Amino acid sequence: MKYGRTYNFSAGPATMPEPVLEEIRDEMMNYRGSGMCVMEMSHRSKVFQQIVDEAEQDLRDLMGIPDNYKVLFIQGGATLQFSMIPMNLMKNGKAVYIETGAWSKKAIAEAKKVGEVVVAASSKDKNYTYIPDCSDLDIPEDTDYVYICENETIHGVTWNKLPNTKGHVLVSDQSSMFLSRPCNVSDYGLIYAGVQKNVGPAGMVVVIIREDLIRDDLTQLPVYLQYKTHADAGSMYNTPNCWAIYCCGKVFKYLKSIGGLEAMDKLNQDKAKVMYDFLDESKLFQGTVVPQDRSLMNVPFVTGDKDLDAEVVAYTKAAGFENLKGHKSVGGLRASIYNAMPKEGVEALVECLKKFEEEHK
Ligand SMILES: *Cc1c(COP(=O)(O)O)cnc(C)c1O
Repeated sequence: MKYGRTYNFSAGPATMPEPVLEEIRDEMMNYRGSGMCVMEMSHRSKVFQQIVDEAEQDLRDLMGIPDNYKVLFIQGGATLQFSMIPMNLMKNGKAVYIETGAWSKKAIAEAKKVGEVVVAASSKDKNYTYIPDCSDLDIPEDTDYVYICENETIHGVTWNKLPNTKGHVLVSDQSSMFLSRPCNVSDYGLIYAGVQKNVGPAGMVVVIIREDLIRDDLTQLPVYLQYKTHADAGSMYNTPNCWAIYCCGKVFKYLKSIGGLEAMDKLNQDKAKVMYDFLDESKLFQGTVVPQDRSLMNVPFVTGDKDLDAEVVAYTKAAGFENLKGHKSVGGLRASIYNAMPKEGVEALVECLKKFEEEHK
């Protein structure tokens, strides 16, 4: 590894593509002849406007975002969206949520403060280790939207087939799988993603929202919490997270340069296969999720013995692999193998785990 960097399996903030970090380094002291760093620039300057415009356009190119969708860069992380979504989208005061893990659960708790929440399906019965069948849900006619968390970062489950919303608007939290595979944006009314998982630095969320869902009758809401405010101002109603926009823009360009989301998907499938093939063969380690719903991004696994789990975490750390301790609600270990984790990193981790298993027979 260059620069003494380690393979970082953190769930977020997480590893970023090295070529992007190098470019950022090269532009740090003087961004393209502007005489300043992007961190020091006015967000109202021409040079920064170009950074935002390019970031948005590159994201539109990558995902094939239709013209009737707005792309917004908002602060408050993904967490603020748990509240903004019901505040802006609940017209009838009712929404359907699917409970598949810690993050959808948090979103449900916040939405309940705003209106009626119908949890139409849940995998709580098996500690969120699968995605429930959502092909024929009981969805009330007056539901304003159906909400899913498309990849549960903590529990490691992912949606491979979207729920049948029966014509209602689909809202998706894509934070931990954003840009990991092709996405048909027109299947959704709103997609959002906190960028610190699979894209860039923390402190920003990307919201992709169909224009007809942006309301202008919400003047009683705090101005900052209305999507309209951000849409009308081109994400610059107030000072945006300029640095995050700049870094994410670089990642968008980088993804385009390596072949876009199809290429990324192939690489991610490849990487996850290395991990899951190992877990399926191992006598010591087991994945916690049913095979058909396993995340390609977050891989939780256990030995079944807490003390041994802790030993493995220490062992991987000593071998130079960081942040493999599992979330406390699942225990064991979790390898987050986002877009920017190279296949060699996953292979090296698997070698390390194999060695541990060999030594603990
Ligand atoms: C991390 C995460 C969040 C919360 O993100 P913040 O930016 O910290 O608010 C929400 N949803 C999912 C799926 C996440 O992984």
